[in-house]
Amino acid sequence: MQEIQSVAWALADLGVADDKKATADGSFLRASGVSSCIRKQIYDGLELPFSTFNFENAANGLVAREIGNTLHEQIQCALEANSIVFKGFEAEVPVSLPEFMRSGHADGVYVNDSDDEVVIEIKTMRNYGFRKARREGPKEEHLLQAATYAMGLGHNFIHMVYVCTDATPGKWKDSARAGDMAEWLIDIDDVIDQTGATLRVIANYVMSDECAQAGMALSDDVIPDGLKALWNTGDEDTPWECKYCGHYSLCGISMGDSVSEILKCKGEYFESVI
Ligand code: SF4
Repeated sequence: MQEIQSVAWALADLGVADDKKATADGSFLRASGVSSCIRKQIYDGLELPFSTFNFENAANGLVAREIGNTLHEQIQCALEANSIVFKGFEAEVPVSLPEFMRSGHADGVYVNDSDDEVVIEIKTMRNYGFRKARREGPKEEHLLQAATYAMGLGHNFIHMVYVCTDATPGKWKDSARAGDMAEWLIDIDDVIDQTGATLRVIANYVMSDECAQAGMALSDDVIPDGLKALWNTGDEDTPWECKYCGHYSLCGISMGDSVSEILKCKGEYFESVI
């Protein structure tokens, strides 16, 4: 018997393949990226292929993505089939926010018992993140993303759905199994933090700021640092987002600071790294 890894490598190849889809209306920024590293959002807006491939985690990433996609589809089918509770449910609704250079697709929209139009946002997550959210509520970036869709569609309510994809190891008191779910219905005009701000106000601020930063990068030819500002500060390690970022190699060299330099070398540079 010989232990081999040919299938694992083939799957890893598929896992690192670039499967980015065009934005809903061709906008520079994606609605799903709101509040993530602005440097990364600009690289994605420039449609750059990845410069870093993490082969070690590629198959794991692919499995997580496939589980996520399958669960999204199953939940969307379930809501479509339950038209009494989820009136007029529609999946993958296109959303455009040209004033913020952003667009995307909401997981779904339905009309509830009170005749409110509700944007549904589905998130699949590993056990630790799921249990934390179940205790503390949805993550801020997920709320902002859902609020972005709601604002783009002119609706006031978001329905967050979290699904756990694996079981808690051992016998924790606060345990969860694969398939456990947590849901919240939120009015984006409710105050959600101590400053008295609503989700709409915060989403509006974040989107305006990121739109301005992207616009400035395109006109001044200087790409903002984003999370790179935290590198080597001694305050903390490289942010985890950077460790999983497909633009990590480009981000670390001077070419990564300039839109024109990137575009000038786009072909050769990316062919050489790929
Ligand atoms: S490596 Fe980090 S700082 Fe650079 S683009 Fe990616 S997330 Fe942003």
